[in-house]
Amino acid sequence: MEYFGEYEGMHYEGNCIRPPSEADSILLQVTLGCSHNKCTFCGTYKDNRFRIKGNDIILADILFASRHMKRQDRVFLMDGDALIIPQERLLWILDRIKEHLPWVKRVGAYANTKSIGMKSPEDLAELKAKGLGILFLGVETGDDETRRKVHKGYDSKHCIEMGKKAKAAGIKLSVTVLLGIAGVERSLEHARLTGELLSQMDPDFIGALTVMLIPGTELWEEYRRGEFRLPDEEGLLRELKEMILHTNITRGLFFSNHASNYLPVKARLPKGKQDALDLIDSALKGEIGLKPEWMRAL
Ligand code: SF4
Repeated sequence: MEYFGEYEGMHYEGNCIRPPSEADSILLQVTLGCSHNKCTFCGTYKDNRFRIKGNDIILADILFASRHMKRQDRVFLMDGDALIIPQERLLWILDRIKEHLPWVKRVGAYANTKSIGMKSPEDLAELKAKGLGILFLGVETGDDETRRKVHKGYDSKHCIEMGKKAKAAGIKLSVTVLLGIAGVERSLEHARLTGELLSQMDPDFIGALTVMLIPGTELWEEYRRGEFRLPDEEGLLRELKEMILHTNITRGLFFSNHASNYLPVKARLPKGKQDALDLIDSALKGEIGLKPEWMRAL
């Protein structure tokens, strides 16, 4: 085992991505890359082979956080899919967090349908009991044709089941959906089917991002060959409206305030649904200004 005890700092490697809501969390990188790494629109981990970091490095980072991050009461486990870590090892990480960072109230991680599928309901309940309070799941779309095209893996039915499975264990569920991912042709179909998926899955938080065309990705190549057309600003607003219209969840927050979006929307559903739809209508009529292109970023 290598000794990392004297290194002062967190051992971050490569692209470190976390959800916007985890900006103030202790970012603990326990894996590198993404275990799926096939989505045609995603360039985040393209050059990284997925691996789980060594326990010695993880422990050194937890100890560093215990000395320097006493005011942060949340931990986010990076990178792409920390839930894929085998159960015993993940429990060990959560135990070390409890031991050395006792002030931490919640641990979060990205998950995908595969990694949730690999855990039994009992495993998930055990993780929840040890502090795993929220999972972030990239749903992207409820349109199976688009899911296949962008290599999302698994169909919408399985995706719904996996979301429900995490929720049944008492873990909060935050999902992202991607505006524009179905191109111009299937824009409204994607919006409707995604709203229907969200209604069945019933997550606690829904974040709508706008797909960005990243050079080097397959989607970028399709765009260059003229095989993929991104809806324009108006098309994306109509897509967002259609999606919200078909999203009927028990209680949750729908937001499209990510930097990639043209219009920031934040709605507490179901109560705030009509206000959100009215806001989008105002933008469609030109009564509200949209974010200029140069201000949109990942
Ligand atoms: S979008 Fe998520 S699941 Fe797909 S390759 Fe990127 S990190 Fe992995």
